[in-house]
Order: sequence, then C-alpha cells, then structure tokens
Amino acid sequence: MKALVYFETLNNEIRDVSLSAIEFAKNFTNEIYGFITNLESAKKYVKKLYVLETENEFPDVIAHEISKVIENEKIEYVLFVSTNKSKEIMSYLTGIINGLMIEDIEAYESNYFIKSIYSNKVYAQFKINYEGIKILGIKPKSFKTPNELEIEGEVIKLKPSKSSSIEIIEIRPKETKEVDLTEADIVVSGGRGLGSAENYHKLLRELIDVLKEKTNLKVALGASQAVVDAGWIDHSHQVGQTGKTVSPLIYFAIGISGAIQHLAGMRTSKYIIAINKDNEAPIFKIADYGLVGDVNTIIPELTQKLKGG
Ligand SMILES: Cc1cc2nc3c(=O)[nH]c(=O)nc-3n(C[C@H](O)[C@H](O)[C@H](O)COP(=O)(O)OP(=O)(O)OC[C@H]3O[C@@H](n4cnc5c(N)ncnc54)[C@H](O)[C@@H]3O)c2cc1C
Repeated sequence: MKALVYFETLNNEIRDVSLSAIEFAKNFTNEIYGFITNLESAKKYVKKLYVLETENEFPDVIAHEISKVIENEKIEYVLFVSTNKSKEIMSYLTGIINGLMIEDIEAYESNYFIKSIYSNKVYAQFKINYEGIKILGIKPKSFKTPNELEIEGEVIKLKPSKSSSIEIIEIRPKETKEVDLTEADIVVSGGRGLGSAENYHKLLRELIDVLKEKTNLKVALGASQAVVDAGWIDHSHQVGQTGKTVSPLIYFAIGISGAIQHLAGMRTSKYIIAINKDNEAPIFKIADYGLVGDVNTIIPELTQKLKGG
C-alpha cells in the first residue's frame, strides 16, 4: 500500500504544518511518497518525491498532476493538511479521480478516525469503508512533525501537462511579517472587550512581543468577528466558524465572550486562557485558566510580569 503526501509551501519553504501529514501517513504504510511544487528539500522525508516545476501554483493544475502520480504509482491514500490552499487542491482532486475526501481529521486511533463536527461541538469517531482512493486532510497541528529520513528520497521532476482554467489578472502581495494563525504555537486573540482598535493593537501586540521574546515560540494575533466587523483588523486574523480554525498550545481569549461560532475555531487548543470582566461569560466554560477583570488593567500587568518587571 502506498501513500502520497502533499507538501504545502509558503515563501519558498515547506510549511511546518504540512510535515505532520507524514506522521499521519505512517498509520497506513511505510511506502510514503511526496508531491511538492518547486522545492526538493522535502526529499528528506519520503522515499520518492515528485516536484512539479511551475511558476503559478494553480490548484487545478496541481490536482491534475497529483492524479497522474496516483495512477502511475497506484497510490491508495493521498494526505494533506487541511489549510485553505490544500482544501482547494483536495476538492479538484476528488472531482478528477472520483475519490473519497475527508477534511480536518484530528486523530487516528485503533483504526478509527476522529474529527470535530457540528461547529466543533462534538467529536465523531468513524471508519472508512471505501475501496477507492482516499483523500484525507488533517487539521493543522493535530499530529507531530516527523524526523528526517537518513536516506535521501529519489526526486522526479515534472512540468505541468495542462494549463489552468484560471487566469490571474494581478497579484498584490500583502505587506506582512506576521505569523500565520494556523502555524502559531500561541494565539493571542482579542474581542470587542478591548474597546477600540488602538487598544486592541497596543495591548495585544505588546503581549505578543514579550511572549515571542521569552518563549521563542511562534505567536500570532487573532480576533473575534466583532473586531473584524468593526474594521480593527482584517479577516485573515478572524478565528471561528467563518474564520480560521486554530489548535495552538496556548490560546488567549481577551475580551471575547465565547460565542459558539468563535469556539468553533479554537476549542481544540491545548490550554485556553480567558480574560473577561464578566465572570459568567461563556468563554470561561471551556477555559483552562480564567482571569476575571478589566483587560485594561490585566493585560499591561501580565505583559509587565512576563517581562520580569
Ligand atoms: C453565521 C455566523 C458566523 C459567525 N462566525 C464567527 C466567527 O468565525 N468568529 C467569531 O468570533 N464570531 C463569529 N460570529 C459572531 C459571534 O456570534 C459573536 O457575535 C462574536 O464572536 C462576538 O465577538 P466578541 O466576543 O468579541 O464580542 P462580544 O460578544 O460583544 O463580547 C465582548 C466580551 O468582552 C467583555 N468585556 C467588555 N469590556 C471588557 C473589559 N474592559 N475587560 C474585560 N472584558 C471585557 C464582555 O464581558 C464580553 O464578554 C458568527 C456569527 C454568525 C451568526
């Protein structure tokens, strides 16, 4: 049995989160192949690596090339990390090969898959009874990152054999050095309780800076929908049902009430720390640690304490 792992890239590097798909693949087979665009560095993790050399990473073209590898290599499992980019490729691929697609898998235990359903309110444990090709996406950070292999995998270079049905008119890069929410070890999220855009950025960014300095971990800025709707920050920072799903080691919910749609995007975080002046705020029901009080007092104090002051 063979598995093919799709390695997602960002700014000419393999995204850390996509490496964990290797660890997931080991549940099914040791015959693990890889597929990536442009980079050869992923050969450290697989026996054979297909490298598609392409300037534009069109999801339909990538899916088409993956489908050819599946056919040639008789692949049974195709594994992704469920990011927005990979989900697009998974959808195209499912259409092309008529496979079975499941996204956002969080665990695999004793031949059962586990994922959250109904806006993360319950866990579903399920089996797959499907003989055809299985296209599976794991939730970012649900599985650990693998060690590099001692051998270097064989590299097979490909050129796109079809052109995309999408035509790009213009690409405008965003000026950002911020850590992507789904990659972060710590997410510091703020809600309406911060009162203003100025306060949101000042208090949270100071806390983020000190957390980065003291922990050396990846720390990202998150937001509730109320904050995004108010225009304090753009939608790429929104956590929740209509934003991103995150599962960091630590999630700070600061001035966030804990509406069900927000919880849908963060309740699988390892440790949740909530700060809210209302001791009945729903966020405290799922928080591991709670601080009841005014964010304007607590956050500067916390930042100062972490600085060692
Ligand atoms: C279809 C749909 C999809 C949605 N998708 C999302 C989504 O993806 N993400 C999302 O976040 N929401 C989503 N929502 C909106 C969601 O229902 C809530 O309205 C939203 O999450 C509320 O944001 P909030 O917690 O910042 O604001 P509020 O609910 O207004 O909460 C503010 C909190 O701050 C506290 N507070 C106020 N002042 C202070 C202070 N000085 N110090 C400490 N605490 C203070 C208050 O006690 C309160 O608990 C969605 C809604 C719908 C209908």
